[in-house]
Amino acid sequence: MPKKTTTDEKHCSFCGRPESQTRLLLTGLNGYICDSCIEQASLMLKDFNRSTPSHYKKTEAIPTPQQIKEYLDLYVIGQEDAKRVLAVSVYNHYKRLKYFEEHHNDNNDVEIEKSNIIIVGETGTGKTLMARTIARMLDVPFCIADATTLTEAGYVGDDVENVLVRLLQAADYDVAAAERGIVFIDEIDKIARKSDNPSITRDVSGEGVQQAMLKLLEGAVVNVPPQGGRKHPEQQMIQVNTRNILFIAGGAFDGIERSIASRIKSNVIGYNGTRTREEIDQHNMLRYILPMDLKHFGLIPELVGRFPLLTHLNPLDRNALRRILTEPKNALTKQYQELFKMDGVTLEFDKGALDAVVDTAVEYKLGARGLRSIMENIMYDLMYDLPNKEKGSKVRITKKLALEQINKSSINPTLK
Ligand code: ADP
Repeated sequence: MPKKTTTDEKHCSFCGRPESQTRLLLTGLNGYICDSCIEQASLMLKDFNRSTPSHYKKTEAIPTPQQIKEYLDLYVIGQEDAKRVLAVSVYNHYKRLKYFEEHHNDNNDVEIEKSNIIIVGETGTGKTLMARTIARMLDVPFCIADATTLTEAGYVGDDVENVLVRLLQAADYDVAAAERGIVFIDEIDKIARKSDNPSITRDVSGEGVQQAMLKLLEGAVVNVPPQGGRKHPEQQMIQVNTRNILFIAGGAFDGIERSIASRIKSNVIGYNGTRTREEIDQHNMLRYILPMDLKHFGLIPELVGRFPLLTHLNPLDRNALRRILTEPKNALTKQYQELFKMDGVTLEFDKGALDAVVDTAVEYKLGARGLRSIMENIMYDLMYDLPNKEKGSKVRITKKLALEQINKSSINPTLK
C-alpha cells in the first residue's frame, strides 16, 4: 500500500513521486530526483553510450617511458627489466592510438602493430601489482581477466568474449573507449596444452581456448554478449573491434626453468648463442626465457606470435621483501601508520621488528603475499586496544613484541 503523503513533502521533479515513497531523494539546484529515476537515467545513458560514437578522451599528452617507469617505481620494488618493457609497450600503445586517430582516413597509412606483452614470473612477485599500477595511471579502460575461467565455446565455463565484457563494463559500455583499452590476462600458463605434441587429439582446457583467444588478439570485430555469460540467439550483441586493444598476459609457467636450462645446456642461448656457461645465473633461469620456451611449455605458436614482447619477473629476495615493507607509496608500514594516526596515535617500527617479519616470510616461504598476514598478526592486538589509547601517545613495535605476536599466531606452523 502506498505510504501517506503530506502536502509540504518534497517530490521527485521527474516522476512526481513523494519522498516518502522513494528510497532516496537527491536535491538539485531547482528540484529533486528519486532513486528509480536515477536508475532509469543510468540505463538510458548506457544505451546512449553504446549507440553513439564516443569522444572519450583523445590521446593528447602521452606519458614518456621514463615517466611510466617512474610511476611504477613508486609502487613496485625491483623488477627493472619488466618495468622498462611494460613502460615502452604502454607508451607505444598510446602512440598507436594517436596515430590511428590522425591517420584513420588515409588509405596509405602504415599499420603500426600492437606490442602485446607476456610477463613470466613466480606467483607473488608483482605481475598483478604491475598491471594494477599501470591501470591507475592510465586514462583508458582497463580490466583483469582470469584465463583459468575461460573455455572453448560450447563447454562449461566462460567464452573468451567475456574478457571483453569486463572491458566494456570498465568503460561503462562506451564501446569506442573499450576499443582503446588494456586487458590483463592472468594465468595464461593455465591454458597451455598439456603436451608439446600438436597431433594430440582435442584438448578442451588448452588448445581450443588458445585458438579462441587468437580471435581477440588478431584485431577482429568480436560479438560480445552485453551482460556476459553464454551467447543467446535472441540477445543483441555489441560489436567490439579489438584492433587497438592492448593485451598484457601474465603467468607463473611453473617448471619452465627446466626447459630453459636444457635449451641453454644444448648451447642455444639468446638469438646469437654467445654466452658462456659460467656467466649463467643458475638461480634465475627466467632471465633467459625466449618465445620458444613458451611454445615448449604448451602455448601454440600463433598465440606466442601475437605477444611480441616477453619479459620476466625476478624472484623476491630478502632485500626486496624488506624494501616492500617500507618503500612503496602504499607500503604496509605506511598503511598501519595512517590507521593509527586516525586514532591520534603515532606508530613506529624498529628495524629489528621488520627484519623479524622478513625472516618469517622467508622461513615459511610465504613470499611477498605473506608479509601482510604476518603484519596483521603482529598488529591486531594493538589495533583492538587502539581506541582506548591516549591521543598523542606513541606505539613502538620492537623486535621482541613482533616475535611474541608471530609466535602465538597461526603463521607459526608448530601451532597449527
Ligand atoms: P602475482 O600476480 O605475480 O602472483 P601480485 O602482484 O598479486 O603477484 O603480488 C602479491 C602482493 O605482493 C602484492 O599485492 C604486493 O603487495 C606484493 N608484491 C609482490 N611483488 C612486489 C613488488 N615487486 N613490489 C612491491 N610489492 C610487491
